[in-house]
Amino acid sequence: MVKLAAGNWKMNGLRQDGLALARELARRAAAKVPGCALLVCPPATLVMAVADALAGSAIAVGGQDCHEAAKGAHTGDLSAVMLKDAGCRFVILGHSERRLGHGESDARVRAKVETARAAGLAVILCIGETFAERDSGATLTVLSRQIAGSLPNGLAAAEVAIAYEPVWAIGTGRTPTLEQVAEAHAHIRAALAAKLDDAAAIRILYGGSVKADNASALMAVANVDGALVGGASLDAGEFWAIAHACGA
Ligand code: PEP
Repeated sequence: MVKLAAGNWKMNGLRQDGLALARELARRAAAKVPGCALLVCPPATLVMAVADALAGSAIAVGGQDCHEAAKGAHTGDLSAVMLKDAGCRFVILGHSERRLGHGESDARVRAKVETARAAGLAVILCIGETFAERDSGATLTVLSRQIAGSLPNGLAAAEVAIAYEPVWAIGTGRTPTLEQVAEAHAHIRAALAAKLDDAAAIRILYGGSVKADNASALMAVANVDGALVGGASLDAGEFWAIAHACGA
């Protein structure tokens, strides 16, 4: 399948540097990256401007979160319909920085996935174990529990990708071994197959300290269908090298 390189800018970027990054990516995207679809998820303040800068390019835009309600009295939140209206085609949901930093339960993440789907956004659904969970041998159990709890039934491959992101690998420069990545991704594929008709066609991204120099090895692992990239996606050259590793 065509892999996906997705950049999560997190809470980084003001108008000047965010737009400069988007324009540089648009310039690079004039020459396609064969075998790789491209996505960037800027902070909410930049979504519209980045969507404008990338209009007509091969790079899609996504949000980093949305509320589970369609609209209403939720100060400071964004709805899925707002993201769609601002130019997004995707939204990241269930990132560990939301699950842990904002106390989001599996049930809440699942409600968000349903709302995003209803709004016509494709979801990047993040799952992954903490270091304590890996250390205690609970990784696969945690992944199963998160899939059972936060992934609704009946989704098609165009509507969802799973991002396997070990919490301890995010922003730390540490990555699991390739064997650990293979084991987790095979387990996720099997859990998807037990739940969704489209399981074989659903992308399973790896995320957690992906860089230009480790991307090729990670992307060659079975059942790794792309990358969710945080820190390295803020550098156009790094992100582009990762995208080429995805497409290779
Ligand atoms: C992320 O936050 O989704 C992520 C993978 O971050 P980093 O690449 O910086 O580890």
